[in-house]
Amino acid sequence: MTQEELFKNLIAHAKEYGFIFPSSEIYDGLSAVYDYGQMGVELKNNIKKYWWDAMVRLNENIVGIDSAIFMHPKIWEASGHVGAFNDPLIDNKDSKKRYRADVLLEDYIAKLEEKIEKEVAKGRKKFGDSFNEEQFLATNPNVLRNRTKIDNVRERMVKALNDNDLKALRDLIVECEIACPISGTKNWTDVRQFNLMFSTQVGSVSDDAGLIYLRPETAQGIFVNYLNVQKTGRMKIPFGIAQIGKAFRNEIVARQFIFRMREFEQMEMQFFVRPGEEMKWYAMWKEKRLQWHKALGLGDGKYRFHDHEKLAHYANAACDIEFEFPFGFKELEGVHSRTNFDLSNHQKFSGKKLQYFDPETNESYVPYVIETSIGLDRCFLAVLSAAYHEEKLADGEERVVLRIPPVLAPVKVAVLPLVKKDGLPEKAREILGSLKYEFNCQYDEKDSIGKRYRRQDAIGTPYCVTIDHDTLKDNCVTIRDRDTMEQERVSVDRLKDIIEEKVSFKNILKKL
Ligand code: ATP
Repeated sequence: MTQEELFKNLIAHAKEYGFIFPSSEIYDGLSAVYDYGQMGVELKNNIKKYWWDAMVRLNENIVGIDSAIFMHPKIWEASGHVGAFNDPLIDNKDSKKRYRADVLLEDYIAKLEEKIEKEVAKGRKKFGDSFNEEQFLATNPNVLRNRTKIDNVRERMVKALNDNDLKALRDLIVECEIACPISGTKNWTDVRQFNLMFSTQVGSVSDDAGLIYLRPETAQGIFVNYLNVQKTGRMKIPFGIAQIGKAFRNEIVARQFIFRMREFEQMEMQFFVRPGEEMKWYAMWKEKRLQWHKALGLGDGKYRFHDHEKLAHYANAACDIEFEFPFGFKELEGVHSRTNFDLSNHQKFSGKKLQYFDPETNESYVPYVIETSIGLDRCFLAVLSAAYHEEKLADGEERVVLRIPPVLAPVKVAVLPLVKKDGLPEKAREILGSLKYEFNCQYDEKDSIGKRYRRQDAIGTPYCVTIDHDTLKDNCVTIRDRDTMEQERVSVDRLKDIIEEKVSFKNILKKL
């Protein structure tokens, strides 16, 4: 099965089992907006808790806030979003479809990369054991030609983006002979800048005076509150402020399921440091964040750093932590050294002093900021796509199992009476009653035990506990492990400890 087919199956599975529904489905959906169902919201809440506890609980010098989505419109002028939060757009005149110019070029580059990979596969087949990949990459003429093309296109694209040279971007698209995937033609408009912020009106005024934006990032809510927090919390530099909340962007290319949405959630932390010390903290947060991801156990090889070639207007260093999604390595989280750009500009635009008095150096200054910014929905997709497995079992049956890290699993334990009679449901409910204060549990007595196991595998429940006739005599149950499918007979008194060991936040947080 190809990655594409697997991804389609995953999307269908996410809907069938109550993880993610298309928004407004009965009205044929709303593009790039999704709703989280009964399982999805549990998984999402667990990811949030993991992030929040790792930031706020484990670090004495990090606190959290929850700022409003609506903010004074001047904030977005100060932050540069009104002037520069743009994507370069291009339309195909025949299909009337709109694309991001840089995405068209990135896709073109990806196709060339694919060609190189195919060439390598061919070489491997031809030369067998004696195949030397490094030498092949350095000498094969087809590979070299494509590599040169990739480097050339990338270099020119980055330059055009940095120079804001829209004509050069269009020329590059034409030169690469990129065709619209819908119409197949190369009939392109000019490239234009398109602002990604959604706007609306407050109050009853209909002119520009009531204009307000839906925040495109949560960070600014932290910046404008940084002194409130610093003073009321008696925070000393270095310190951080964390926030989880919704953000909105009018994305032009909305695709790949919940990877790119118009309404999404961010988990951001701004870390305020002494000017001149930012690179030290930048390096530290890069490593710390990677460690957070790896502790989930989705596979260390699925992550990599990608340094930004085009730095945003506010940054002096920036990188992405990329994850290997079913459609390739893509950005999951950004770590940015934002300098004092935001705070200085808010100082300028608001006319209020935003300086910090450093008691150690007896100096006042505007702090520098390191930001870690992760998309909650992208993290959700990373977990789900790494967890999704279609398996053939020894007995010839098939199962779909979500190997979600147990700490994040929506349901931790399913309590299943073997049959619906003979006092087994009553005993099962008694066990459920003792576990439900510790874990999110599910009770299920419908269908055969095999079918019930499959249903729990499909939502990623780490443990199933089965109550049978012997349970009434010896107070023991069968506990089944999702991944190994092994079953063990244990005393009811041990259940809490066994499950706790596997699913507790404590154990994963201790790894950090
Ligand atoms: P991209 O290059 O993919 O558009 P970005 O560099 O604009 O992302 P940032 O502004 O750095 O993204 O936002 C921080 C994080 O927010 C990203 O790493 C990503 O996880 C998440 N994010 C950004 N845009 C979206 C979106 N449209 N849908 C879902 N998550 C998003």
